[in-house]
Amino acid sequence: MDIVDYKKLFEIGEKLHSYLDVESLLSELFVILKEEYPNFSYYLLLSQSTYKHSDLPVIDLEYDSENIAATNAFLTGEIQYEFSRSEKSTILYAPLKGKQGVYGVVQIIAPHSLDIPINEVEFMTLLAGSAGAAFENAQHYQQSRKTILELQLINETSYRLNSNLPLAETLSFMAEQIKSSFYAQEVGFFLDSKERVKVKILPGSTPFFFSSTAETYIDYIKGKLKKENDPLLFGDINLPLSMQSKRYHSVMVVPVVLGKNLKGFSIIMHEKPYFFSFETFQLLQTLVHHLSLSLTNSMLREELKKLVTTDHLTKLHSRNYLDEKIQFSMKKDNEGTFILIDIDNFKEINDSFGHQIGDEVLIQLANFIKGNIRGEDVGARWGGEELAIYLPNVPLDAGVVIAQRIVAKVSQNSNPHITVSSGVSYWNREKPDTYQYLFKRADEALYHAKGTGKNKVVTQGDNSKTS
Ligand code: GH3
Ligand code: MG
Ligand code: MG
Repeated sequence: MDIVDYKKLFEIGEKLHSYLDVESLLSELFVILKEEYPNFSYYLLLSQSTYKHSDLPVIDLEYDSENIAATNAFLTGEIQYEFSRSEKSTILYAPLKGKQGVYGVVQIIAPHSLDIPINEVEFMTLLAGSAGAAFENAQHYQQSRKTILELQLINETSYRLNSNLPLAETLSFMAEQIKSSFYAQEVGFFLDSKERVKVKILPGSTPFFFSSTAETYIDYIKGKLKKENDPLLFGDINLPLSMQSKRYHSVMVVPVVLGKNLKGFSIIMHEKPYFFSFETFQLLQTLVHHLSLSLTNSMLREELKKLVTTDHLTKLHSRNYLDEKIQFSMKKDNEGTFILIDIDNFKEINDSFGHQIGDEVLIQLANFIKGNIRGEDVGARWGGEELAIYLPNVPLDAGVVIAQRIVAKVSQNSNPHITVSSGVSYWNREKPDTYQYLFKRADEALYHAKGTGKNKVVTQGDNSKTS
């Protein structure tokens, strides 16, 4: 070549610019160099070690006195020469230069016997320049794709978190997101605040966290968080465990903080040491921040639900209130009767008269109940169209009479006409019992009443005794 082959250079430039992936671009660059100058050898000195793992002859650019020519090429953006008498070679350093900076230096080593003609130097300089611009372009493209994916992840996560799913579902979703986006092996969510004696492992956490080995991790992390509520990134966590039993080395921890108080934290782990990058760690913090907002919301919602003691529609007591009253009574009283009442064929009422009339029917039934119980008794909305009565210190036969009275009154006086079925259960000190079991017996009796004609009362365990 006597003069610079600009046409060829243009074609190479076009080709390099078509790559959107930095690694393929670099390997193409080496192919081109080998084709053009088969007798030379090449290295790429890069300032970022990101592409070091590839098969390409890429080395770190070290800024030291051994490497003055390479460093100069990198810093000035101008081509540099080096003659090595001992190696009998000429070395050329052509900067990989884009619009916004120099990304590295192409090192071209020519055996001394082969001098590099001036037009070839020009060609190499231009080639390195063209490759630099293509490199910059591909890097920008990759970076923006990554940013888009991250934004999509954040967006999708925050959307799902705000869709008022139950807590367990929210957390399972979150665990899946983190596992698939960060290649994490274990994901755990924990409640931990000053008021709490023990850390509570939340549903949705991966099974490992419910094992006893996990306690070592959790306790260690809890201790670290106690000092400051800062997120933690461990490349290789230093646990008080023998090396053999330490399974997970890489650990990320993000605290869930409300105001200035720690409410909980999230732990993400991988077996390999130094598995998570700092970028991953930062993205995780963003995700967990969204999670804490939604977590706080749903915790508040669940707390609020507990605080409500009156059912809005029927003005009877709430289910939570009833549960508490019964548990309390089973501790301090000697006996009690529980009555469950369910409207017969209520779907038909709704279908023929509409939901609003359906609601009024429920209110009527609630009023029948209120009119038939006394101060100590608890009338409650059990759920949907099922209402319940708890009679502390009332024996079974007296309880059954009350249930029968309500069933009869509803059938005689309701408008539109409805009937109800009832299941009655009873406990006393003589037999060990739980409130769950008390509910279950009433529910079974009610089921029996439904199956044997409805509009009747059935008593626990004695399914023949219907009336
Ligand atoms: P069954 O005799 O077996 O109890 O028949 P059913 O039609 O009552 O059947 P089921 O108990 O399965 O259906 C309950 C229906 O009650 C379904 C639901 O639409 C209605 N329902 C539940 N809560 C309310 C409410 O608050 N208002 C109104 N209007 N309807 C309700
Ligand atoms: Mg029902
Ligand atoms: Mg019903």
